[in-house]
Amino acid sequence: MKILVVGGAGYIGSHMAKTLVGAGVSVVVLDDFSTGYRQAVRYGDLVEGSFADRALLDKLFTDHQFDAVMHFASFIQVGESVRDPAPYYRNNVANTQVLLDAMLAHGIKRFVFSSTAAIFGEPTRIPIDESLPSAPINPYGRSKWMVEQILADYESAYGLESVCLRYFNAAGADPEGELGERHDPETHLIPLVLQAASGRRQAISVFGTDYDTPDGTCIRDYIHVNDLSAAHLLAVKRLLAGQGSGRYNLGNGGGFSVNEVIETARQVTGRPIEVRFEPRRDGDPARLVADSRKAREELGWTPMFADLKTIIANAWAWEQNYPW
Ligand code: UDP
Repeated sequence: MKILVVGGAGYIGSHMAKTLVGAGVSVVVLDDFSTGYRQAVRYGDLVEGSFADRALLDKLFTDHQFDAVMHFASFIQVGESVRDPAPYYRNNVANTQVLLDAMLAHGIKRFVFSSTAAIFGEPTRIPIDESLPSAPINPYGRSKWMVEQILADYESAYGLESVCLRYFNAAGADPEGELGERHDPETHLIPLVLQAASGRRQAISVFGTDYDTPDGTCIRDYIHVNDLSAAHLLAVKRLLAGQGSGRYNLGNGGGFSVNEVIETARQVTGRPIEVRFEPRRDGDPARLVADSRKAREELGWTPMFADLKTIIANAWAWEQNYPW
């Protein structure tokens, strides 16, 4: 099996490349390093460039016979997408269409897409299963939902089969310590909390304490990056086995508030973590918790690192060694 990992120098894409190579899959990573890191490309062959570059894609798809394409190269910051939506629609939607059209021109008809819980917006029920209507409340979520809709139309019209994986909150790091999370600027809760624990940052800001949740802070479903990678591998196997397209919500089914994450990080690290309470961040829903029964049943997916302490412990090991 040969797979193109678009965005393989990023957080989730780099873990994916490791999982694929470990499973005996041949991997080519395509990344322009606009947000990814060279040091993160430890598995697979690297092609440097943009997935919006049609000439580059034509060459890549002529040189290699890919069985499928996995796409991790999206912009991901909710708050930034509210302040400046243009790059979100350009990169996440328009550029993704360039990639899909190039795939079709070369007869590649299997695609695994990194979607997000943000397509559900402020959910009307928890936990969120796949039957809940999509109603994103920020440009980031809308950009991902637009691609899901494009994929449905491309399947009807052109026979492109896809699996859309709606990640809840990706977290943790490679348990072997080779890879981990790095964003610049970092905006995600767990790495920021751990930076406050290690002393790289003075304090963690808690965005909003007046949400309709037991302690007033937002509740999220944190899912280990290796469990996400495992789901992608199962998804691509599903496509290659001819079992057809699918859409799956990926989380552990347990929600933790921002305050609970900070308290767990204090326990795992044994360090004090200073907190500053601040106003709400734009575009944040109060609660996002997944019902992943469909992924368990149809993909045979079982999260291996479901415990929040394990997720934080892996991320903490990465934060302490932080080789890049
Ligand atoms: N959050 C926070 N302080 C931070 C970063 C995040 O309180 O410095 C909150 C954020 O408002 C959200 C939760 O932590 O409620 C998870 O945010 P993150 O950016 O990690 O992921 P998202 O849910 O936006 O995908």
